Amino acid sequence: MKRKNKRKKLNLKKILIMIIFIVMILCIYKAIDFFIKQTGIIEASSQVEEILRVVEKNKHASVSRYIVYGTHLNLEGNMQIAGDNQIKKAEVVAKDVSGEEIAIDSEYTYEDNLLSFSTLKEINTGLNLENLNVIDYYLLLKVEFANNETKYYSLSNDTEYGNIEYYTLTRNNTNNKININFGTLENIPVFRLNITTVKELPEDVYDVVVDPGHGGNDSGAISGKYIESDIVLDCAKRLKTGLEAIGLKVLLTRDGTESEEDYTTYNIYDEDGRVTMANESHAKILISLHMNSNEEYISEGGIEVYAAPNSDLTLAKLLADNIVEVANTQYSQNESDKELEGVYVRTIELDEYINNRNSSSNNYHGIFDSIPYLYIIREIGGIATGAYVDGSNSNYSANKYRNSNVGVEGYLIELGYINVREDLNHVLRNKELYVKGIVNSINTFYEIEQK
Ligand SMILES: [Zn+2]
Repeated sequence: MKRKNKRKKLNLKKILIMIIFIVMILCIYKAIDFFIKQTGIIEASSQVEEILRVVEKNKHASVSRYIVYGTHLNLEGNMQIAGDNQIKKAEVVAKDVSGEEIAIDSEYTYEDNLLSFSTLKEINTGLNLENLNVIDYYLLLKVEFANNETKYYSLSNDTEYGNIEYYTLTRNNTNNKININFGTLENIPVFRLNITTVKELPEDVYDVVVDPGHGGNDSGAISGKYIESDIVLDCAKRLKTGLEAIGLKVLLTRDGTESEEDYTTYNIYDEDGRVTMANESHAKILISLHMNSNEEYISEGGIEVYAAPNSDLTLAKLLADNIVEVANTQYSQNESDKELEGVYVRTIELDEYINNRNSSSNNYHGIFDSIPYLYIIREIGGIATGAYVDGSNSNYSANKYRNSNVGVEGYLIELGYINVREDLNHVLRNKELYVKGIVNSINTFYEIEQK
């Protein structure tokens, strides 16, 4: 019995040692794994493996245009493909190096052996850059053939554009930096997104631009002693404070210190003008605040939110609904250019734009057949919104960002009608609530605080 006990003890000891040994091995393995992930030592080779495993080696598609507008990336391009293969479906996907893929809503045509594809149906949907994991992604063209074969083609850059540095909106004091770039992987051209986390935005990078309409010698609409430029400036300052309270970095295009002689109507494209400021802010969103006037049949006033054509109107509708609810105001009765209750899309059609041009040169970007009428929405969006002010009208400087493939997503909000007394009074008494409606919308739509 004694001996048996001793043997049992010995066995227990052995088992214990073995357990400790296994735990140690596991710890060492975990530590090495953690070290590798932190330093990215084998990242490059595993990327090569995963992406090279799926893409065609001898054929790639060509990107003819890629655009970051607001928080979304979109592209279009084409590829020659032999006619004996029936195509069932073609779409652009973002494949990460772990093998997961995100499908991007795509349209395609296939004619004369040429497959053309585009994700640009709407400029503010597509690949949402705010929702990506901190991992590398590759953009690929995924083609499903009639024989149920699926092939992935890498993408090469056949545009005039280079790399884009994108910073996600600030959430919990952190941002992701996304380097959108073209490169090669073992001689195969690739279009990829390298994502890292940063602790602070660079000094010149903002989340949101708040634009109080008019200013300087441009008072905007006037009703008695009430001046549009002053009312919207007050609201804009409150909006900046409200957005900063949820952690966003905000740029005001003017703060009231501009001189009375400042010709803000015509200097908008100058070096320190609001269009240049917005374009240089790297911001994702711009909110321009205005007061409406002059619609004679409007007797009750109300809110109007203007958005870009060819865009998803979810945020515009959220803005209109939240302002109506929180500020206890109403949707405007104005029917022209109305898309939804409180939401408006005002455009210049292509022929109208061409007829109105002062110069014979036609620099229209040709993406869409309608262009935003409101310059603040159009000229901060670059090619996505058909920005075209090129200096040929001598009243204005050229918008030097008109050909940019990076654009700020703009919304113009008419808070109320300055010439409708009750509506004006309601705005004047409830500025803080109008602002709260806007802040709530941005907070909800972009998941600023809940992520
Ligand atoms: Zn105005």
